[in-house]
Amino acid sequence: MPDTIADLLPALVDFRRDLHAHPELGFKEHRTAGRIAAALRDGGVEVHEGIGGTGLVGVLRAGSSDRAIGLRADMDALPMQEQTGLPYASQTSGAFHGCGHDGHSTMLLGAALHLARTRQFDGTVHFIFQPAEEGLGGARAMVQDGLFDRFPCQRVFALHNWPDLPAGTVSTRPGPIMAAADKFEITLTGKGGHAAMPHVTPDAVLAAGELVGQLNTIISRRIPPTASAVLSVTRIQGGHAHNVLPAAVTLGGTVRSFDPAIQDGIEAALRQVAAGVALSTGTEAAITYDRYYPATINDGEAAAEALRIAATLCPTHLAPEPAFTSEDFAFMLQACRGAYLWLGQGTAANAAPLHHPAYDFNDDIIATGMMLHVALAEGMLGT
Ligand SMILES: [Zn+2]
Ligand SMILES: [Zn+2]
Repeated sequence: MPDTIADLLPALVDFRRDLHAHPELGFKEHRTAGRIAAALRDGGVEVHEGIGGTGLVGVLRAGSSDRAIGLRADMDALPMQEQTGLPYASQTSGAFHGCGHDGHSTMLLGAALHLARTRQFDGTVHFIFQPAEEGLGGARAMVQDGLFDRFPCQRVFALHNWPDLPAGTVSTRPGPIMAAADKFEITLTGKGGHAAMPHVTPDAVLAAGELVGQLNTIISRRIPPTASAVLSVTRIQGGHAHNVLPAAVTLGGTVRSFDPAIQDGIEAALRQVAAGVALSTGTEAAITYDRYYPATINDGEAAAEALRIAATLCPTHLAPEPAFTSEDFAFMLQACRGAYLWLGQGTAANAAPLHHPAYDFNDDIIATGMMLHVALAEGMLGT
């Protein structure tokens, strides 16, 4: 490990644990962004704040080339309760760094501080700290706020810690790596009435039951068997008394896919199935279908370059398949060529998956993550 990275490491572990103890939800990362901005400025990195809300960009130039790359970390926490019992556990009720974004921000900050000292590259590195990755589209907000117009990049990269991979290994793949995420809500409305007289009101509960069954046939019967997609009904609400047929029942869920044509087909089938169940049960169906994150699609060349660079530091492997979770770095990859990498953080001691109340970021991978960002900058902007 280079000396400057070993030097920075103890302070970075403290920094990560401080972020962990003070998690902030999407678009409310004021303290987090403020601490990162102050540390970047102290390290000699130019800082631009307030991009896409609480987002910020650090800019570091060396040499004379007009080449530039972007390195991105996310800053937000999840709206959930931590149950780790750690000494640096969340001090904010209902907010928890259960996805390791405290670690991502820390690794990118560490890389910026290291590169500011060494400057072994020719061009510009943009350190992108984005808000609100967890469902609120902070990456989209930054792109819409002119991220790549103000800070043009030929390539953009992001890392996500990955508990399923051994600590300190890197994996990615060309093409799709994370799924498009859609959410739907369907309300079936009848009339409501006495449960002893079901013949005088459409039964929204029975209709909803049929609809759950029908929706679960879409993936197996309505899209090609070679395509990959998931549809899960996750929520069903209606009724409050044993002797009342409710006037309406609402159900909701999520759809994950990788190919826009498949996504179109699923949405069309969902609308058709809901309308069909409504017709056959005498209810009315109101449908909302929200495509909130597109699929995260790696540029083939950028993914190969990243794996080649990572291989100089640590074990790497080509991921055989994408994950069905989603990631709003997708919006940055729609605007700029690049790749999203998984950085293994698995340990026997911390086997909890992402978004689990017992999850914690593994500080043992901070150095590898920093060196990977540094190597991407130095590799893509070689002197
Ligand atoms: Zn997450
Ligand atoms: Zn995450």
